[in-house]
Amino acid sequence: MNSTNNTLCPLCGSSTNNTFIIGFDRVSPKKENFTYVKCKECNLVFLYPLPTDKEIKTFYDIDYGPHQYGNVDKVNDRHFSFINKFLINNYFHVQSNTTSKSRLKKYIAKKLSVFALKNLFAPYGKNRLLDVGCGNGLWLYQHLKLGWHAEGVEMNADACKKATDLGLNIYQGTIYDVPLTNKYDIITFNHVIEHVLDPLETLSQAKKLLAPNGLIVMLLPNIDSYGFKKFSNCWFPLDPPRHIIQFSPETIRHLIDKVGLNVKDIHTIPKARFMIKSRIYKKYLSNDFININDLTKRRTLIEECLKKGKKQTFESKIYKKIMIFYSYFLNKNSGEILKVTAQNNETSSNM
Ligand SMILES: [Zn+2]
Repeated sequence: MNSTNNTLCPLCGSSTNNTFIIGFDRVSPKKENFTYVKCKECNLVFLYPLPTDKEIKTFYDIDYGPHQYGNVDKVNDRHFSFINKFLINNYFHVQSNTTSKSRLKKYIAKKLSVFALKNLFAPYGKNRLLDVGCGNGLWLYQHLKLGWHAEGVEMNADACKKATDLGLNIYQGTIYDVPLTNKYDIITFNHVIEHVLDPLETLSQAKKLLAPNGLIVMLLPNIDSYGFKKFSNCWFPLDPPRHIIQFSPETIRHLIDKVGLNVKDIHTIPKARFMIKSRIYKKYLSNDFININDLTKRRTLIEECLKKGKKQTFESKIYKKIMIFYSYFLNKNSGEILKVTAQNNETSSNM
């Protein structure tokens, strides 16, 4: 599953690269820094040397954010609010017993759909959805409520239990633990692909699980973003050493091409929230932070940033507004987050 040589480019296999940036752990302070290199052949930015599986496990010794968001009551409240109930019946219309026959209602619902139930998928294919790295499954649970056959994969045992308790079918482990006889219309990687050592193999495995015309949808940080250019190693989504690979629109396209999927769409999304957090690190950590050898000193400084990051000050609110406004004028590839949709156009081996 993993390359035996942990210095070769995970995308093209080249051994030639240049130092790109030196980063630090912005959550769980460590004495050492982390070096990212840029492949001379394909421009992929990756941690150098690549960590081993054993090392990766030590990166998650803290309560990792994505496992902890939200609660199910809030999801239900939101879900059965007036407007969303209307959308469920008339736009998503996947629960046959509640499906509206009115074309007018369907038309109105379609127009309204942009205002509600953000980031949810409308019915697609046979509504089979797999979320890789599903955390506690709340996002999947919303799809289950919409009539999807929603399933997930998750490594963390606690998160798995939470998701299973919601009535979801969850595979504990990695995508390799999902039976290949399963087929899905949409497979999602929500902030996952930047954490894996072998994105090429991971996506190839996902492709085997796709139905004909099935989609892979990924969200991941964009190293070509305005935020990275402005904040460099203080850029919040850099997140070494957990983010092993830093993709750009160019390198993620290259990855999808190599897997043999068709790129349907790549665009970027600006995130003012990440700008605010990055700005705090930039402001409170001196430029020579990476030269500090004293772990206690590092810890104090990082904890200070974490504390500041939790507070919403008047200044940070104004800065957020400015950033939202500013992002309208940026190059379309400059957003903090990459959203990628790739399609499986092969029909032979699938059902
Ligand atoms: Zn390369």
